[in-house]
Amino acid sequence: MRATVVLFTADLRLRDNPVLAAALRAAEHVVPLFVIDSGIAGAGFVTPARAAFLADCLADLDEGLRARGGRLIVRAGDVVRETCRVAAETNAMEVHLASGASGYAQRREERLRSALTVDGRSLCVHDAVTTAVAPGVLVPSGSSGKDHYAVFTPYHRRWSAERLRPVSPAPRRVELPPVRSLPLPGPRDLARGPAPAGLPKGGESEGRRRLAAWLRSGLAGYAAAHDDLAADATSRLSSYLHFGCLSPAEVISRARRWATEDEPHAGAEAFVRQLAWRDFHHQVLAAVPGAAHRDYRTRHDRWRTDPDELAAWRAGMTGYPVVDAAMRQLAHEGWMHNRARMLVASFLTKTLYHDWREGAGHFEGLLVDADVADNRLNWQWVAGTGNDTRPHRVLNPLVQARRFDPRGDYVRRWVPELAALPGAAVHTPWRLDGPARAALRYPAPVVDLTEGLARFRRARGLD
Ligand code: FAD
Repeated sequence: MRATVVLFTADLRLRDNPVLAAALRAAEHVVPLFVIDSGIAGAGFVTPARAAFLADCLADLDEGLRARGGRLIVRAGDVVRETCRVAAETNAMEVHLASGASGYAQRREERLRSALTVDGRSLCVHDAVTTAVAPGVLVPSGSSGKDHYAVFTPYHRRWSAERLRPVSPAPRRVELPPVRSLPLPGPRDLARGPAPAGLPKGGESEGRRRLAAWLRSGLAGYAAAHDDLAADATSRLSSYLHFGCLSPAEVISRARRWATEDEPHAGAEAFVRQLAWRDFHHQVLAAVPGAAHRDYRTRHDRWRTDPDELAAWRAGMTGYPVVDAAMRQLAHEGWMHNRARMLVASFLTKTLYHDWREGAGHFEGLLVDADVADNRLNWQWVAGTGNDTRPHRVLNPLVQARRFDPRGDYVRRWVPELAALPGAAVHTPWRLDGPARAALRYPAPVVDLTEGLARFRRARGLD
C-alpha cells in the first residue's frame, strides 16, 4: 500500500487541516509525524510554559488520531533528517507540510525539499493553513513591484474581500503503516523548569471548547470591551492559533457566520479585524524574514542600556502600576492583554528608550502564544521601527491607565501591594503623603514621564 508522511508543525489539529486532508487523499497509509526539533529547542524557543502547552497539544492530537484508527508518531532530533528517515522506513514518496512565515520555517522547507529530492521523494507544501490568507497572495497593485503590504489599512481592505477556502471536517479514519515512535513527550521532556501557575490547557479539543464559548458569550461584547484591561473581554485564543489547534480560516468563518445570523455585528467585525492583523504580520515576515532581528525601517536609534531599569521593567517594579500589573500578569499567566502589551512595549522602547529586541526576547521567554511574526513585528510596530504609520507616538502609561483601567481593578488584581488603594488612586501611589507612601512597599517611578518623552523626542530628532 502507498504511504505519505504528514509533518505536523504549527498545525496541530485534525479539523480543517489541508495538510492532513491532502496526505489522506494521496495514499492509503498516512504517517502523522511530529519531530521534537533540536533546531527549535536549541534556539531556546521551547520554554517551560510553551512546553506544557505543546505537550497538551500532542496528547490531544494523539488521542484524536487513535479514535480514528491511527496515532501520532514522535521522533526527536534534526527535523529534516528524522522526516527523511521516517519517509524511507515507510517507503513514503511524499511528505506534506504547512508553509511557515519565519526564516526558520522557510529554511526548514528548503532543506527538506532538497533532502527528499536526493532520495527521489517530493515535498508538498500547503498554504493558508497557519494563516487564513497565505503570505504573497495579496500584493499592492500598480508598478511598485512590492511583494507584501507594508501598511495595514489597504491590506485589510483587500484581505476582507478575499474568499476563504471552505472549512473541512476532521478525517473519519487514519491508517498507518508499521512504524516506530518515541513515547509522547511530557512537559519535562521538552523543557527544564516549572511552568507558570496560571497556564491554560493546550490542544485542539480545549481550543474548540473555548472558541464555542467565545462565540456564544464573548464575541457580542468584543467591540465595546476589548480594550478594557480589567474586563478581560478578549478571546484568549492566541495560543491555540499559534500552535494551530485552531484553524484561523475556521475561526474567521464562524465569527462571520455568527454575525450574519445576528445581522452585521460590530463585535464580529472588530474580532475578525484582529485576525487580519495576524495575517498582515505573517505576510510582512514571510517577505522580510530578517525583520525578526533587524529594524524593518531603521530610525537610526542608539538605544540606551541600563540593566537596573531593564530588570525593573521585567520584574514589574517600574513604579508605574499599570505597567507593573501587566508584567506580573505575563509572568503568572504566560499571557498579556493586547492593550497592556502595547503600553509596556511603548514604555520600554520609548519612555525608557531601550532596544525593542530586549523586550521581544523577554516576552518570548514567557508568552505561551510567542510567535516570531506577531511578537517581533508588534514590538517593531510599537517601537516605531516597523509598520506603524505614526512611528513616533508615545503611550503615556498614566493616560492609558485612566482610560483602560478607570476604576483601577486591573492594577489591584496584579499588584497586591496597592490593593488597599481605592479607585483610580491606585495609578498614582507617589501622590500619597509620606508615611502612607512608605507603608506601601512599592517602588518610586524609575523615570519621570516628561523627561522620558523629551529624551525620546531628542533621540529621534523630533525637537
Ligand atoms: P483577541 O483580542 O481575542 O484577538 C483575536 C486574535 O487575533 C488573537 O488571538 C490573535 O491571534 C490575533 N491578534 C490580535 N491582535 C493582534 C495583533 N496586534 N497582531 C497580531 N495578531 C493579533 N500575538 C501573538 O499571537 N503572539 C505574540 O507573540 C504576540 N506578541 C505581541 C507583542 C506586542 C508588543 C504586542 C503589542 C502584541 C503582541 N501580540 C501577539 C498581539 C496581541 O497582543 C495578542 O494576539 C492578543 O493579545 C492575544 O489575546 P487574545 O487571543 O485574547 O486576542
